[in-house]
Amino acid sequence: MIYFDNSASAIPNPMALESAAEAMKHFANPSSPHFAGLEARGMVEEARKKAAAALVCSQTEIFFTSSGTEANNMAILSMADKNKRAGNVIVTSHAEHPSVTETFKALEAKGYKAVFIPVEGGELDYDFLEKTLKSEKVCLVSLMQANNQNAAITDLKEVREAITAAGSNALFHSDIVQGFLKVPESMTDYAVRYCDTASLSAHKIGGLKGIGALFVRKGLKLSPIIFGGGQETGLRSGTENVVGIAAFGTAARLFSADKSYRAKITRLREIFIEKSKDLLGEAADFKIPKSHIDALINISLKNVKSEVAMNYLSSKGICVSSSSACSSKAGENTALAAFGYGDEYNSSSLRISFSPFNTEEEVEILVRELKNALAFRIKRNKAK
Ligand code: PLP
Repeated sequence: MIYFDNSASAIPNPMALESAAEAMKHFANPSSPHFAGLEARGMVEEARKKAAAALVCSQTEIFFTSSGTEANNMAILSMADKNKRAGNVIVTSHAEHPSVTETFKALEAKGYKAVFIPVEGGELDYDFLEKTLKSEKVCLVSLMQANNQNAAITDLKEVREAITAAGSNALFHSDIVQGFLKVPESMTDYAVRYCDTASLSAHKIGGLKGIGALFVRKGLKLSPIIFGGGQETGLRSGTENVVGIAAFGTAARLFSADKSYRAKITRLREIFIEKSKDLLGEAADFKIPKSHIDALINISLKNVKSEVAMNYLSSKGICVSSSSACSSKAGENTALAAFGYGDEYNSSSLRISFSPFNTEEEVEILVRELKNALAFRIKRNKAK
């Protein structure tokens, strides 16, 4: 298998898997006061420390959840309710992950008014955002840090400045699931400096699926959306997933401490672009936002529908994405439509996403097979 669908679920970090295996041995309930429970608790708290260090925040600001999806739901539902006094307008964009847009729909059904900031051309319109914040009574802004389709970075500092400049009392949440540890190093602490809350997911950075976290700025008191035994300081009840949490901590620590991870991703992307330009020429079109993460890239193969290319590559043992694997309805990609790239581009677009555990040779094979996919398409067209 050659795997370039790391933005859907990244190749797990072997050391994170080792941590998971170790944690499986500590099967006691981390809330139990006996020694075995305390050992499991120790693993949870150790991982919290590592995740907090990677995000550059305090460990008391990290709350483990079952996923990035749950963290987004928790932040958005809780903050809109908490900040009702500021107004009933909630702000986001059509480029967000369904765990944000669907939660917005649930709030709209309760009477909130949603405003969507344009992302024409693939990037957020900051002027429109500031005007909206000035003219509307906004209680919540939710804008992602890095887009899972086209890699565009939203500058969280600029969003915060727009909120301040408008004199708005809006709270600010960011889905940093794709941005965490992937944005340029100068932006590493942006979520903590400029957001009230931010959501993370372990399986995008080499951890396991089914574990995420919400950063909640110190002093901000949120209400739970899941009730029960009061774990995670009462914000998220449910016995902690010690195995997933331990692997998350290790994955976050390694990704943040080992500089070669980012460098490798950047290098693989560069090689991919270079080789694609050489081998595919005019047949390949890229949409690259000015400010972007290197972990993924969107490419369109002229006249080859996404599914055809993806299935062809799959038959050769290569995994890429034709649209977000997280999209609830196959074939519908509202983010790409919102970017206004055009139907022709969108219907033949592929998302290639890189991991530090991919190799340069794999990139070369991928580009060669993309060329074969083009030839295969041309042959099929002639035969029709
Ligand atoms: N937000 C973004 C931008 C994502 O790409 C994803 C998953 O693809 C999520 C949220 C959801 O994370 P999880 O899979 O942990 O629910």
